[in-house]
Amino acid sequence: MAGPELRFDDKVVVVTGAGGGLGKAYALFFASRGASVVVNDLGGSFKGEGASTKAADVVVDEIRAAGGKAVANYDSVEHGDKIIETAVKAFGTVHVLINNAGILRDISFKNMKDADWDLIMKVHVDGSYKCAKAAWPHFRKQKYGRIINTSSAAGLFGSFGQCNYSAAKLGLVGLSETLAKEGAKYNILCNAIAPVAASRMTQTVMPEEVLANLKPDWIVPVVAYLVHESNQHENGGIFEAGAGHVAKLRWERSKGALYKPDSTMTPGAILKKWDQVRDFSSPSYPDGPADFMGLLEQAMALGPNDQ
Ligand code: NAD
Repeated sequence: MAGPELRFDDKVVVVTGAGGGLGKAYALFFASRGASVVVNDLGGSFKGEGASTKAADVVVDEIRAAGGKAVANYDSVEHGDKIIETAVKAFGTVHVLINNAGILRDISFKNMKDADWDLIMKVHVDGSYKCAKAAWPHFRKQKYGRIINTSSAAGLFGSFGQCNYSAAKLGLVGLSETLAKEGAKYNILCNAIAPVAASRMTQTVMPEEVLANLKPDWIVPVVAYLVHESNQHENGGIFEAGAGHVAKLRWERSKGALYKPDSTMTPGAILKKWDQVRDFSSPSYPDGPADFMGLLEQAMALGPNDQ
């Protein structure tokens, strides 16, 4: 049941934060399937301190020793243009961008410093933006591009002590959803993943026996499928992956309640129909805002006793 072998010959893949964890697993995989890979890593600590060329070099050496094609880049993703420049100089273009680099600055909201907030935004949000922005003209010109932005359950659901990280990670969902809409006509597809895997980032927050069953290698296949040319339609999605489970998440909208938009639309009127507002028994699954003009017409047509 392994399915067809999806290969990446003639594709240039940029993986940010590829010196360890998930990024390393992606880089090794894409190279083993024929891609030319840019192994980007700043080489700092998981809190974003320091820098070293070693992390990226080790992965490049491993790829080359196995007969694959790879170059290293040591810039912070905040300078995404330099990372894409490395791809263009070494391999002529870029086809796939895996925005994976990340750090943590966990601390309760009460104790959070501006520096903790700012650095998380810089690495996750600005970094993904900068890399995508620099890759975009190449994607448009060649009418081919695939982007993965790395979100997190923390962003989708919130997570104690991670308000900076949560905000950044949900921000990446918004970035993905919009790039998906703007890129579609140029065959640029962009999806977000929320992975769960053992890495230095999770080793302090999950027990060893759980981590033993959460290999980064089990995130690789879904990411590889989404950025492969055989994926022609999956765009703007959010995918949860971990422990051999892959699922798609989506927005759900309740049918909602209608109120006549006049002076009778009071907070008390809202309260009266609150159960309808939050009733998900006849939901819809939108990929855009509600049809407010159509709804307004229906609301205006309500009689005086409908409030
Ligand atoms: P990791 O710490 O092993 O890997 C992150 C890599 O990014 C490191 O090698 C690090 O040096 C690099 N990096 C950090 N800042 C960088 C910068 N400014 N520029 C370039 N490289 C930089 O952690 P991981 O678990 O493999 O995380 C990969 C991604 O997955 C991150 O975005 C993380 O937030 C996300 N994520 C991971 C999990 C999980 O369960 N492991 C869960 C949700 C989200």
